[in-house]
Amino acid sequence: MIDPKPTASHFINGAYVEDTAGRAINVVYPATGEVIARVHGATPAILEAALATAKAAQPAWAALTGTERGRILRRASDMIREQNRSLSELETYDTGKPLQETLVADATSAADALEYFGGLAGSLTGEHVQFGEDFIYTIREPLGVCVGIGAWNYPTQIAAWKAAPALACGNAMVFKPSETTPLCALKVAEILHAAGLPAGLFNVIQGLGDVGASLATDLRVDKVSLTGSLSTGRKVYAAAAEGMRNVTMELGGKSPLIIFDDANLEDAVSGAILANFYSSGQICSNGTRVFVQKGIKAAFLSRLMERVGKAILGDPMDEATNFGPMVSQRQRDIVEDFITKGKEEGARLICGGKRLDRPGFWITPVIFSDVTDNMSIAREEIFGPVLSVLDFEDEAEVLIRANETQYGLAAGVFTLNLTRAHRMVKALEAGTCYINTYNDAPVEAPFGGTKLSGVGRENSKAAINHYSQLKSVYVRMSKLEAPY
Ligand code: NDP
Repeated sequence: MIDPKPTASHFINGAYVEDTAGRAINVVYPATGEVIARVHGATPAILEAALATAKAAQPAWAALTGTERGRILRRASDMIREQNRSLSELETYDTGKPLQETLVADATSAADALEYFGGLAGSLTGEHVQFGEDFIYTIREPLGVCVGIGAWNYPTQIAAWKAAPALACGNAMVFKPSETTPLCALKVAEILHAAGLPAGLFNVIQGLGDVGASLATDLRVDKVSLTGSLSTGRKVYAAAAEGMRNVTMELGGKSPLIIFDDANLEDAVSGAILANFYSSGQICSNGTRVFVQKGIKAAFLSRLMERVGKAILGDPMDEATNFGPMVSQRQRDIVEDFITKGKEEGARLICGGKRLDRPGFWITPVIFSDVTDNMSIAREEIFGPVLSVLDFEDEAEVLIRANETQYGLAAGVFTLNLTRAHRMVKALEAGTCYINTYNDAPVEAPFGGTKLSGVGRENSKAAINHYSQLKSVYVRMSKLEAPY
């Protein structure tokens, strides 16, 4: 088993760096509540070192060919796959998510991103536009120094989803993980540099929101990419606006999952489980408002309860476990408050919501039935294992209700009616839609939100546009006339 203690708190200019003058941050293993490591938040000197080194290292990196940059990213991808087990154990220590999940969803997803953008790096181009006898060409340039700020639910994946396109395009990055999960991004930095990334191009510094805020306002920073809550997104977006910095905002959601009478029942139940209980419900794109057409509701609820009853809670390092704890005491408190509100506002708690008689931040998966649109549990992002079942009569009604949210991250439809499925996803206000599946997030597909769920897209070729800019060059071939 991997030792979760990092070599030091920060990774700057190709090496681990410590500065114990920074505020101490205890790393707590969510499954037991034990402190397993300690890091220190960035002092002003650490912050300065990270930004200065990124700024200094970036031009030489941008001057390499895309193929040379991509080769390093692909090598890092291979190394991540080789170290999948130890990286998955570290992800489990950081987040509490069961090893059964982390072995297939975290380091592997980071490796996918590095492989994909590594492969793309050599084919990043501008274009040529013929303009009569003259012509125009565009040069695709990096932005410069990018800042990444991460949430705590997917610390390895978030670091790599930001690092891979940024580095492929020739940028440098300073990344700040969530204070709750500071360990995994350090490993991503270590592996990138072991794979040959020149020093200074991917730096990780620890800290709370104030460190993120200092990064977002520094004059050397050209772009900020945040994965976090709407309230933090508003602050970071506003701070970035001051300097006209580019942003990517991956924020929260309250996504609808719509199950029609004609759906395959087992698939629909699988979809609802994946949309609510994977990672103990701590996923931004979760389909937490489960709209079930009245004709199938009783059968759906009965089968859902039966299958959720089979969830295995326990030691996350045991590969048989498939449901872990909440990431922190704070997050469990938030979930418990919502459960109380749900009951007070008249929803019917049909299972779950109990703590386990063991240390750590455990809570059993929750299903509410008889939920209505105005209840808090149907309106606000909970970020925990709370599935709300709402019923509906017909397609027109459910479409209006599904779209009645400030968020627009994801949406899902289960039906065997092909035309209805496509009609629905066309009208659903969300960045990602699923038909007869839920929560897939391959690197090949753009990922991001509409409405208050965010700005920009991660993954896919679309991410390239968010980590590069185009310079237009006008070339005159004929004689140049002037009025005088
Ligand atoms: P937070 O918004 O609390 O924190 C996100 C990150 O921002 C943390 O690193 C945090 O530091 C930092 N931060 C906080 N305040 C500031 C500030 N003023 N300036 C700069 N940085 C700041 O989110 P959580 O970590 O609690 O994550 C849960 C949220 O993330 C949910 O809303 C979820 O939906 C969203 N999310 C979105 C995803 C997407 O792709 N759309 C994916 C995953 C999660 P610190 O940790 O010290 O507070």
